[in-house]
Amino acid sequence: MSREKTDKGFCPEKIDLHIHSTFSDGTDTPKQILEHAREIGLDLFSITDHDAVKAGPMIRKLRKEGDPVFVTGVEFSCKDENGKYHILGYGYDPEAQAVQSLVEKSHSFRLEKVHVRLAFLRDEFQPFSWK
Ligand SMILES: [Zn+2]
Repeated sequence: MSREKTDKGFCPEKIDLHIHSTFSDGTDTPKQILEHAREIGLDLFSITDHDAVKAGPMIRKLRKEGDPVFVTGVEFSCKDENGKYHILGYGYDPEAQAVQSLVEKSHSFRLEKVHVRLAFLRDEFQPFSWK
């Protein structure tokens, strides 16, 4: 079993370090992701929601002895003059104030973009009626 420590330390064989939950654009809750990770025998996993770190504390509470190892994760959408990037980060303390501030800022940028798009749709297209 690769989840056990060997003389070389922890050597995971089955890992997934890029999973999204319902806290961003995933379809499964963190609890469902943990259950699925158990079912398929993952050794190590991370939930990397877009601009959200709420899954980490939930998984930490739900994990039992023998469960896959969990690493905190997050995905930030970034943009510069050369393009758009998705940057993944791992192993932070989700309760840390610096992490909370960064996530809140990124989340508000994301909401701002949604409001701009909705305003565009409202202005460019006539609302229709079902009558
Ligand atoms: Zn992603």
